[in-house]
Amino acid sequence: MENILSAAEKMLGTAVRVEDHRGWAIFWCPFHNDADREGEGGQPNFGVNLTSGYWKCLRCGASGGSLKSLQKKLGREWAPPVSVAAPTRPQRPPTQVQLLDGDLRSRADAKGTAAIEDFVTTLRVRIDLGQLAAGRYQLAVRREGDSWRMFPAVVN
Ligand SMILES: [Zn+2]
Repeated sequence: MENILSAAEKMLGTAVRVEDHRGWAIFWCPFHNDADREGEGGQPNFGVNLTSGYWKCLRCGASGGSLKSLQKKLGREWAPPVSVAAPTRPQRPPTQVQLLDGDLRSRADAKGTAAIEDFVTTLRVRIDLGQLAAGRYQLAVRREGDSWRMFPAVVN
């Protein structure tokens, strides 16, 4: 299944979604103006069966029995359009970090994007403590749009 998926993505760009449980990968159809409608709420119509390589567009009806026939129909000159090749999975919003003093005034801040590292959501930011006196602070963290969460912090 993985082989058919990676071969199909080589031809069509990153799959819009993979329906693992049903064994299909869904793409924007390369044979009609499918991707042009993305901004207008259009849905991708082109499915590749990850077991057999069978492919079919629900909109324009293009279909074939294998990735070989897909490659043939796309032709030698075909390359996936950039907008289709770019990953379409949503980006996480950036995380904001602030260091607050005893009066809850922001004394330093930074922004970064959390990532999964060793199965733990991890945020790495550089925060400039150069101007801060030693003492107790609150570290405030939030994903943009969420509410702040506070953690005690000590600057030595
Ligand atoms: Zn189509």
